[in-house]
Amino acid sequence: MTKPTQISWKEAPVANQQEAGRLSALDRLDLLDTPRDEAFARIVRLIQNIFNVPLGLVSLMDGHRQWHMACPSGMDGEAERKDTFCQYPVATGQSLVIRDASQDPLFAHNPHVLADNGIRFYAGVPLRTRDGHTIGTVCAVGPEPRQFDARELQILTDLADMAMGEIELRQQAGTDVLTGLLSRREFKERASHAIMLGLRHKYPVSCAVIDVDHFKLVNDTHGHAVGDEVLREIAGVCQRELRATDVLGRLGGEEFAAILPHTSLADAVEAAEKLRKAVKLIRVESENVIIKVTASIGLAGMDSVAEDLDMLLARADKALYEAKDQGRDRCVSFRTAVVAGPRRRVLKGGRIIFNNRFSAIDCTLRSLGDEGAEIDVWNPHDIPEKFTLIIAPENVERSCLVVGRTDKRIEVQFT
Ligand code: GH3
Ligand code: MG
Ligand code: MG
Repeated sequence: MTKPTQISWKEAPVANQQEAGRLSALDRLDLLDTPRDEAFARIVRLIQNIFNVPLGLVSLMDGHRQWHMACPSGMDGEAERKDTFCQYPVATGQSLVIRDASQDPLFAHNPHVLADNGIRFYAGVPLRTRDGHTIGTVCAVGPEPRQFDARELQILTDLADMAMGEIELRQQAGTDVLTGLLSRREFKERASHAIMLGLRHKYPVSCAVIDVDHFKLVNDTHGHAVGDEVLREIAGVCQRELRATDVLGRLGGEEFAAILPHTSLADAVEAAEKLRKAVKLIRVESENVIIKVTASIGLAGMDSVAEDLDMLLARADKALYEAKDQGRDRCVSFRTAVVAGPRRRVLKGGRIIFNNRFSAIDCTLRSLGDEGAEIDVWNPHDIPEKFTLIIAPENVERSCLVVGRTDKRIEVQFT
């Protein structure tokens, strides 16, 4: 059994660097929150069947959470990083086998072990990129103690290699299988190109980010297949309502984005309103029930500050959060006044320190500027109004004031 080491990055600057490199690798792959993918679901089923365990996972380790690329249906798609078993293979880059977690000093008091029907058996293998960064894990988990011999560990390692192979293939895929729209990667390529042309020829370019409202409820109520059908319908509506010259992609599960060349922000709002109304007219039938959905849309335009895709997306995303906050089923444009200073989309690990430095919470920075940042945390309501933010690995400390709080995200101003 590999002995895991607990890494506290405050005391371990090397681990700091390693974590930052790891997150940059994850950022380059750009896979967090991408749509579900059958190839990874198949690996999860293989894990369950080969090892006869109820739980298999293929997951990526974000700054503050473990995001499941694939997990058994009915399970949450993410977990807080702090208590996960997978954080250890990620930190050490080594496989980890725990035959009985209740007897293991490191895990005996873990909440996932103490829970009803809690974890006893765990085997996890790191997912490593070619350049040596551990971005996540493939693991097998069960509620009973279990042996796991060298042959089984080799099988799990092969499954991790298969998952890594699939991840590399995804890097080349241009279209999203479910909807036929551009994949996130391809969207970014073409969108960046469209923005560059707009800048060179001095015409306006706008950006819309479209997110289905309460989509989890559609899945939970009517099943995943019906959810998929709704997504295909929405993709169809986007294609019909927008121009053929617009760049349209699926950014994540139920999130789409469009770049509209030759379109001012005011015109983009008009187009988005048409789109929003068309989404409301979608009807999907399942077992004699008619399913309807709504969508929220965030919009942003280019100006002298926001002149690349990352900035435009960060702004549209910010507007989308406001649309959700204001009650959903609406279009909201980004207002410069809302945010002090320009921000850039980033993926960086950080730590929130408060309570006279006695309390610390891991976080992930999503956008960062000179005057503020947007930060993802597991539970925004645990975070006080004022705190210190440490950004790894630069050892930068900023005093922060919370100016916005949504489900998973807080917005801060540096003071
Ligand atoms: P909100 O109005 O705040 O956007 O709520 P929401 O429920 O839409 O948002 P949330 O992010 O909580 O849930 C998104 C859901 O989308 C959860 C996930 O299971 C589902 N999902 C992601 N990808 C797919 C997919 O490819 N097919 C289906 N059917 N569901 C998916
Ligand atoms: Mg949604
Ligand atoms: Mg969403």
